[in-house]
Amino acid sequence: MSCSSSSASEDEDEGIDSYRKGGYHAVRVGDSFAGGRYIAQRKLGWGQFSTVWLAYDTRSSRYVALKIQKSAPQFAQAALHEIEILSAIADGDASNSKYVIRLVDHFKHAGPNGQHLCMVLEFLGDSLLRLIKYNRYKGLELNKVREICKCILTGLDYLHRELGIIHTDLKPENILLCSTINPSKDPVKSGMTPILERPEGNLNGGAAINLVEKKLKQRARRAVARISERRASMGGVGTTPKPDRSLDGIDVRCKVVDFGNACWSDKQFAEEIQTRQYRAPEVILRSGYSFSADMWSFACTAVELATGEMLFTPKEGQGYSDDEDHLALMMELLGKMPRKIATGGARSKDYFDRYGDLKRIRRLKYWPLDRLLVDKYKFSETDAKKFAEFLCPLFDFEPEKRPTAQQCLQHPWLNMDNPTKNEVKSEPTIDKVSVGMRNLQIKVGK
Ligand code: ATP
Ligand code: MG
Repeated sequence: MSCSSSSASEDEDEGIDSYRKGGYHAVRVGDSFAGGRYIAQRKLGWGQFSTVWLAYDTRSSRYVALKIQKSAPQFAQAALHEIEILSAIADGDASNSKYVIRLVDHFKHAGPNGQHLCMVLEFLGDSLLRLIKYNRYKGLELNKVREICKCILTGLDYLHRELGIIHTDLKPENILLCSTINPSKDPVKSGMTPILERPEGNLNGGAAINLVEKKLKQRARRAVARISERRASMGGVGTTPKPDRSLDGIDVRCKVVDFGNACWSDKQFAEEIQTRQYRAPEVILRSGYSFSADMWSFACTAVELATGEMLFTPKEGQGYSDDEDHLALMMELLGKMPRKIATGGARSKDYFDRYGDLKRIRRLKYWPLDRLLVDKYKFSETDAKKFAEFLCPLFDFEPEKRPTAQQCLQHPWLNMDNPTKNEVKSEPTIDKVSVGMRNLQIKVGK
């Protein structure tokens, strides 16, 4: 198992190429599984390992999410591991109150592409990544961020302290809202009648044809978008910015999902974990990791929710790798890494000299989190200060010093209330803006 790709692939479809022996199982609406117990209703999503379908459970008369794994042995192996972890999660949380996805059932399904392990999960809503997009990358109100953080931390505390599980791939995409953003997408709220058999005329439909259609539609949409962009750049129509969207009335309670890469803290199998942007420094440096690596990803996620943008987006440049750029970005935000930490990992020599300075990227410009929140994201001074006080300990370069999920849950920031929805945000002064010149600093190649 490898670490996941970045969130950028969210909108692409899974591609028809993987519908072959060892790959995905092609599902049609109305297909039945587990001896007729579950009936496929519509596709919910997909990942590198599986496609996920909304299914109707004829035994409990409920809707569930059916995750159908690719069939090749390495995927089956990964599914068995995920089932083991999910079973432990379900066994330890009888009341389903820990904000972690619940496994309902699992079974094997034989199809033309092989034997597929299937997981039946409780049906959840959109991911936090979709919520951020829905909010037009504006950053959510701090009261919403707080509520979301409480759910994630409750989930992490349960996983870490009670079960000894490290998630290893925490990010907005892997946290799902308990309800859909659009109520018409919720089969219960929308009063959907379950499909119990394959609709006529869908005999040859299959996933492949759907995908071709979808691809054509996607291409057409992109072409239209390009044309309106061009028009906009010529000063024509289409220049009006989209109005803000209100999140009032959207239930932001959420659960941690996707345990495909999770591990027991005493049985780790991967050295490189986490999606790039959410990766902790000790993982880059190969100094060993533990629960505190999830806390780093949690903090990156919390910032992203509040600003609408990923905190760290490292890129490789001339003479330096994306890893080294990532370390540089971290130090620009958090200050110099203590020498002991910088030089203590198996990979340290690739990036740091013996004084603990980066080998190829010099002249870092310090831009601390509270200033970044004020200068770039127009937070009020107080909001920025309080939010940074909550987050900064989680960004400690020394993993052991980071607070645990249990400790975070006690933090006063989580129990504050922002008085008004639209907090007064301070205007940047010329002086503050000049801090933003950091990006103009030259990174020297060797
Ligand atoms: P990855 O490549 O991220 O490892 P994966 O094959 O392990 O992916 P998941 O991330 O578990 O699959 O699920 C893929 C997508 O299916 C999710 O991003 C989400 O859109 C949808 N999904 C998964 N579980 C549920 C659920 N319980 N309820 C609703 N949608 C779900
Ligand atoms: Mg996923």
